[in-house]
Amino acid sequence: MTGIKHLWELQTLEEEKLDLERKARTFPEVRELKMLKADIEENQAKIQVMKDELVQIKRNLKQEESGIMLLKEKMEKASTQLYSGEITNAKELETAEKNMEINKEKVEEAEDRALVLMEQAEKAEEQIKQLLKDLDTKKGQFRELNKSYTERKAGLARALEEHEARNKKLVEKIDPQLMQKFFKLCGRFDDKKGVALLENGVCSGCHMSVSFDLLKQSKNKPKELMCDNCGRLLLVE
Ligand SMILES: [Zn+2]
Repeated sequence: MTGIKHLWELQTLEEEKLDLERKARTFPEVRELKMLKADIEENQAKIQVMKDELVQIKRNLKQEESGIMLLKEKMEKASTQLYSGEITNAKELETAEKNMEINKEKVEEAEDRALVLMEQAEKAEEQIKQLLKDLDTKKGQFRELNKSYTERKAGLARALEEHEARNKKLVEKIDPQLMQKFFKLCGRFDDKKGVALLENGVCSGCHMSVSFDLLKQSKNKPKELMCDNCGRLLLVE
Protein backbone atom coordinates (compact mmCIF):
# COMPACT_ATOMS: atom_id res chain seq x y z
CA MET A 1 0.00 0.00 0.00
CA THR A 2 2.99 2.36 0.46
CA GLY A 3 3.31 2.86 -3.29
CA ILE A 4 -0.31 3.83 -3.59
CA LYS A 5 0.02 6.09 -0.57
CA HIS A 6 2.82 7.91 -2.36
CA LEU A 7 0.73 8.15 -5.51
CA TRP A 8 -2.08 9.60 -3.43
CA GLU A 9 0.31 12.20 -2.04
CA LEU A 10 1.55 12.95 -5.51
CA GLN A 11 -2.01 13.43 -6.71
CA THR A 12 -2.81 15.74 -3.80
CA LEU A 13 0.36 17.70 -4.47
CA GLU A 14 -0.62 18.12 -8.12
CA GLU A 15 -4.02 19.39 -7.07
CA GLU A 16 -2.45 21.94 -4.75
CA LYS A 17 -0.09 23.01 -7.49
CA LEU A 18 -2.95 23.60 -9.93
CA ASP A 19 -4.70 25.61 -7.26
CA LEU A 20 -1.62 27.77 -6.73
CA GLU A 21 -1.27 28.33 -10.45
CA ARG A 22 -4.91 29.30 -10.69
CA LYS A 23 -4.39 31.81 -7.89
CA ALA A 24 -1.37 33.22 -9.69
CA ARG A 25 -3.50 33.91 -12.73
CA THR A 26 -6.28 35.60 -10.84
CA PHE A 27 -4.52 37.98 -8.49
CA PRO A 28 -7.07 40.71 -7.71
CA GLU A 29 -4.24 43.20 -7.48
CA VAL A 30 -3.52 42.91 -11.19
CA ARG A 31 -6.87 44.37 -12.13
CA GLU A 32 -6.71 47.03 -9.43
CA LEU A 33 -3.19 48.02 -10.43
CA LYS A 34 -4.26 48.35 -14.05
CA MET A 35 -7.20 50.54 -13.05
CA LEU A 36 -5.02 52.71 -10.81
CA LYS A 37 -2.45 53.10 -13.56
CA ALA A 38 -5.13 54.23 -16.01
CA ASP A 39 -6.43 56.65 -13.35
CA ILE A 40 -2.96 58.08 -12.75
CA GLU A 41 -2.36 58.58 -16.45
CA GLU A 42 -5.73 60.27 -16.89
CA ASN A 43 -4.94 62.54 -13.95
CA GLN A 44 -1.54 63.43 -15.39
CA ALA A 45 -3.09 64.26 -18.75
CA LYS A 46 -5.69 66.45 -17.05
CA ILE A 47 -2.98 68.31 -15.12
CA GLN A 48 -1.09 68.95 -18.35
CA VAL A 49 -4.18 70.38 -20.02
CA MET A 50 -4.83 72.61 -17.01
CA LYS A 51 -1.22 73.80 -16.95
CA ASP A 52 -1.37 74.69 -20.65
CA GLU A 53 -4.59 76.57 -20.03
CA LEU A 54 -3.02 78.44 -17.15
CA VAL A 55 -0.07 79.49 -19.32
CA GLN A 56 -2.51 80.82 -21.91
CA ILE A 57 -4.54 82.71 -19.28
CA LYS A 58 -1.38 84.30 -17.86
CA ARG A 59 -0.23 85.25 -21.35
CA ASN A 60 -3.57 86.94 -22.03
CA LEU A 61 -3.40 88.68 -18.68
CA LYS A 62 0.04 90.06 -19.42
CA GLN A 63 -1.21 91.36 -22.75
CA GLU A 64 -4.14 93.11 -21.10
CA GLU A 65 -1.86 94.60 -18.46
CA SER A 66 0.59 96.00 -20.94
CA GLY A 67 -2.36 97.32 -22.96
CA ILE A 68 -3.65 99.10 -19.86
CA MET A 69 -0.23 100.54 -19.17
CA LEU A 70 0.06 101.92 -22.70
CA LEU A 71 -3.41 103.45 -22.55
CA LYS A 72 -2.67 105.09 -19.21
CA GLU A 73 0.56 106.56 -20.53
CA LYS A 74 -1.32 107.92 -23.52
CA MET A 75 -3.98 109.41 -21.25
CA GLU A 76 -1.39 111.05 -19.07
CA LYS A 77 0.25 112.65 -22.03
CA ALA A 78 -3.08 113.82 -23.39
CA SER A 79 -4.07 115.15 -20.01
CA THR A 80 -0.84 117.11 -19.65
CA GLN A 81 -1.41 118.54 -23.07
CA LEU A 82 -5.02 119.32 -22.33
CA TYR A 83 -4.42 121.17 -19.12
CA SER A 84 -1.20 122.85 -20.08
CA GLY A 85 -3.08 125.37 -22.11
CA GLU A 86 -1.32 124.34 -25.29
CA ILE A 87 -4.60 123.70 -27.03
CA THR A 88 -6.70 126.79 -27.44
CA ASN A 89 -8.85 125.84 -30.37
CA ALA A 90 -12.32 124.91 -29.06
CA LYS A 91 -12.81 122.12 -31.56
CA GLU A 92 -9.41 120.59 -30.83
CA LEU A 93 -10.15 120.84 -27.16
CA GLU A 94 -13.41 119.04 -27.60
CA THR A 95 -11.74 116.27 -29.62
CA ALA A 96 -9.03 115.88 -27.01
CA GLU A 97 -11.59 115.60 -24.22
CA LYS A 98 -13.57 113.07 -26.21
CA ASN A 99 -10.43 111.01 -26.79
CA MET A 100 -9.69 111.10 -23.09
CA GLU A 101 -13.16 109.78 -22.39
CA ILE A 102 -12.84 106.99 -24.94
CA ASN A 103 -9.47 105.92 -23.55
CA LYS A 104 -10.83 105.94 -20.03
CA GLU A 105 -13.57 103.58 -21.08
CA LYS A 106 -11.05 101.39 -22.86
CA VAL A 107 -8.97 101.17 -19.68
CA GLU A 108 -11.99 100.22 -17.64
CA GLU A 109 -12.94 97.51 -20.08
CA ALA A 110 -9.42 96.13 -20.16
CA GLU A 111 -9.30 96.17 -16.36
CA ASP A 112 -12.54 94.21 -16.22
CA ARG A 113 -11.13 91.63 -18.61
CA ALA A 114 -7.91 91.45 -16.60
CA LEU A 115 -9.92 90.85 -13.44
CA VAL A 116 -11.79 87.96 -15.04
CA LEU A 117 -8.48 86.48 -16.24
CA MET A 118 -7.00 86.81 -12.75
CA GLU A 119 -9.94 84.92 -11.32
CA GLN A 120 -9.59 82.25 -13.99
CA ALA A 121 -5.90 81.87 -13.23
CA GLU A 122 -6.59 81.54 -9.53
CA LYS A 123 -9.23 78.89 -10.17
CA ALA A 124 -6.97 76.95 -12.50
CA GLU A 125 -4.13 77.06 -9.97
CA GLU A 126 -6.46 75.73 -7.29
CA GLN A 127 -7.65 72.92 -9.57
CA ILE A 128 -4.09 71.97 -10.47
CA LYS A 129 -3.20 71.87 -6.78
CA GLN A 130 -6.12 69.55 -6.08
CA LEU A 131 -5.29 67.31 -9.05
CA LEU A 132 -1.67 67.06 -7.92
CA LYS A 133 -2.85 66.08 -4.45
CA ASP A 134 -5.11 63.37 -5.91
CA LEU A 135 -2.25 62.20 -8.09
CA ASP A 136 -0.01 61.85 -5.05
CA THR A 137 -2.65 59.81 -3.21
CA LYS A 138 -3.15 57.52 -6.19
CA LYS A 139 0.58 57.07 -6.66
CA GLY A 140 0.85 56.10 -3.01
CA GLN A 141 -1.96 53.57 -3.39
CA PHE A 142 -0.29 52.15 -6.46
CA ARG A 143 3.02 51.75 -4.64
CA GLU A 144 1.37 50.01 -1.68
CA LEU A 145 -0.64 47.66 -3.85
CA ASN A 146 2.30 46.91 -6.08
CA LYS A 147 4.37 46.07 -3.02
CA SER A 148 1.84 43.59 -1.66
CA TYR A 149 1.35 42.13 -5.13
CA THR A 150 5.08 41.61 -5.60
CA GLU A 151 5.33 39.99 -2.19
CA ARG A 152 2.40 37.68 -2.88
CA LYS A 153 3.79 36.76 -6.26
CA ALA A 154 7.16 35.93 -4.72
CA GLY A 155 5.45 33.88 -2.01
CA LEU A 156 3.57 31.91 -4.59
CA ALA A 157 6.70 31.30 -6.63
CA ARG A 158 8.39 29.99 -3.48
CA ALA A 159 5.42 27.70 -2.75
CA LEU A 160 5.55 26.35 -6.29
CA GLU A 161 9.28 25.68 -6.00
CA GLU A 162 8.66 23.83 -2.76
CA HIS A 163 6.00 21.77 -4.46
CA GLU A 164 8.36 20.90 -7.25
CA ALA A 165 10.95 19.65 -4.75
CA ARG A 166 8.39 17.56 -2.84
CA ASN A 167 7.10 16.14 -6.09
CA LYS A 168 10.63 15.13 -7.17
CA LYS A 169 11.30 13.40 -3.86
CA LEU A 170 8.03 11.49 -4.06
CA VAL A 171 8.56 10.36 -7.62
CA GLU A 172 11.94 8.94 -6.63
CA LYS A 173 10.22 6.74 -4.06
CA ILE A 174 7.62 5.27 -6.44
CA ASP A 175 8.20 2.15 -8.51
CA PRO A 176 8.38 3.22 -12.18
CA GLN A 177 5.95 0.51 -13.28
CA LEU A 178 3.36 1.62 -10.76
CA MET A 179 3.97 5.17 -11.83
CA GLN A 180 3.25 4.32 -15.45
CA LYS A 181 0.08 2.55 -14.46
CA PHE A 182 -0.96 5.59 -12.47
CA PHE A 183 -0.35 8.00 -15.36
CA LYS A 184 -2.36 5.82 -17.72
CA LEU A 185 -5.20 5.71 -15.22
CA CYS A 186 -5.12 9.46 -14.68
CA GLY A 187 -5.58 9.97 -18.40
CA ARG A 188 -8.73 7.90 -18.36
CA PHE A 189 -10.70 10.13 -15.98
CA ASP A 190 -12.08 13.61 -16.39
CA ASP A 191 -10.76 14.63 -13.00
CA LYS A 192 -7.33 13.23 -13.97
CA LYS A 193 -7.23 11.32 -10.72
CA GLY A 194 -5.96 7.74 -10.86
CA VAL A 195 -6.04 7.10 -7.14
CA ALA A 196 -9.10 7.14 -4.89
CA LEU A 197 -9.71 6.58 -1.21
CA LEU A 198 -11.69 3.58 -0.04
CA GLU A 199 -13.75 4.82 2.88
CA ASN A 200 -16.57 2.87 4.50
CA GLY A 201 -16.70 0.63 1.46
CA VAL A 202 -17.14 3.57 -0.95
CA CYS A 203 -14.63 4.63 -3.61
CA SER A 204 -14.00 8.40 -3.42
CA GLY A 205 -13.44 8.47 -7.20
CA CYS A 206 -16.76 7.11 -8.47
CA HIS A 207 -18.67 7.40 -5.19
CA MET A 208 -19.92 3.82 -5.56
CA SER A 209 -19.80 0.98 -3.07
CA VAL A 210 -17.20 -1.58 -3.99
CA SER A 211 -18.05 -5.27 -4.06
CA PHE A 212 -18.04 -7.37 -0.93
CA ASP A 213 -15.15 -9.37 -2.35
CA LEU A 214 -13.01 -6.29 -2.81
CA LEU A 215 -13.86 -5.09 0.67
CA LYS A 216 -12.75 -8.42 2.04
CA GLN A 217 -9.49 -8.21 0.08
CA SER A 218 -8.86 -4.73 1.40
CA LYS A 219 -8.73 -6.03 4.95
CA ASN A 220 -5.58 -7.98 4.09
CA LYS A 221 -3.77 -4.78 3.09
CA PRO A 222 -2.77 -5.92 -0.40
CA LYS A 223 -0.05 -4.13 -2.40
CA GLU A 224 -2.50 -2.99 -5.03
CA LEU A 225 -6.23 -2.73 -5.08
CA MET A 226 -8.46 -1.38 -7.83
CA CYS A 227 -12.07 -0.23 -7.62
CA ASP A 228 -14.23 -2.75 -9.42
CA ASN A 229 -16.53 0.04 -10.63
CA CYS A 230 -14.20 2.67 -12.02
CA GLY A 231 -10.85 0.96 -12.03
CA ARG A 232 -9.00 3.54 -9.95
CA LEU A 233 -6.24 2.40 -7.65
CA LEU A 234 -7.59 2.40 -4.13
CA LEU A 235 -5.91 3.65 -1.00
CA VAL A 236 -7.11 1.89 2.11
CA GLU A 237 -6.28 3.58 5.37
ZN1 LIG B 1 -14.36 3.80 -8.08
